[in-house]
Amino acid sequence: AVRFDRVTKRFGGHTVLDGLDLAVGRGERVTLIGPSGSGKTTILRLLMTLERVTEGVIHVAGEPYSHMPSGHGARGAGAGPGGPDPKAGLVPASERYLAARRRGIGMVFQHFNLFPHMSVLENVVEAPVHVLREGKEAAEARARELLGMVGLADKVDARPTRLSGGQQQRVAIARALAMRPEILLLDEVTSALDPELVAEVLDVLRDVARATDITLLCVTHEMGFARDVSDRILMFDRGRIVESGRADELLDEPTHERTRAFLRAVR
Ligand code: ATP
Repeated sequence: AVRFDRVTKRFGGHTVLDGLDLAVGRGERVTLIGPSGSGKTTILRLLMTLERVTEGVIHVAGEPYSHMPSGHGARGAGAGPGGPDPKAGLVPASERYLAARRRGIGMVFQHFNLFPHMSVLENVVEAPVHVLREGKEAAEARARELLGMVGLADKVDARPTRLSGGQQQRVAIARALAMRPEILLLDEVTSALDPELVAEVLDVLRDVARATDITLLCVTHEMGFARDVSDRILMFDRGRIVESGRADELLDEPTHERTRAFLRAVR
């Protein structure tokens, strides 16, 4: 579903990702762990096109994403009728191309970023109606279904500001799923929450992982959650993967000293 080919990201002279190769299969659940500043969030931000790569190419669903095939019109929204020409070179993607490709990716952030002037239901309905051009009634029916799934059926008419942090984050999860993404990115979704609200959000995400075949890329410091939802865990340090393995294996028997030290620190 996602492939990074020798992706480097620099901010000024500071190299955050250093020739990263990373492949995530369709429907696979992968958690990124590692110390602060090791580049985990940058990976998710590159996928959300909130940042652009310095070098290398990101592919999503088998097609170039950070770059587009040249010869398909630098201002085009996607590949031509025959699909991208594999022999053509790649050029940095235009904003319009990125906007179209980004629709397959949902993201939930640490801060929920809900629209405060809209009801819970309106928050979830907004993008499917305005971006996907779904009919209002169908979008509302689906929003109610998703809000039921995250345990907020009785809050559809409330303003987000009247909800607890855990409830707001559950709205944000429903809102991301309403766009029917193939890939869901979770960036430390519980780290802004009071400790007693963390479990309800993680439980909802466990349900989402169980009930869907969505591809999941997750940055978290919650190792219990990582163990439950991930097929694979990647340990990052200074923009590189230092260890990768099945969730239980990496958590129970880390081989790299860097991983051991990190796990001791977060547990
Ligand atoms: P954290 O857990 O703290 O979010 P992380 O592993 O997710 O850590 P990143 O957020 O990806 O790390 O950041 C990696 C490095 O990139 C950090 O040193 C950060 O200061 C730097 N960085 C991120 N965004 C920018 C930016 N827009 N401009 C300059 N430096 C940045």
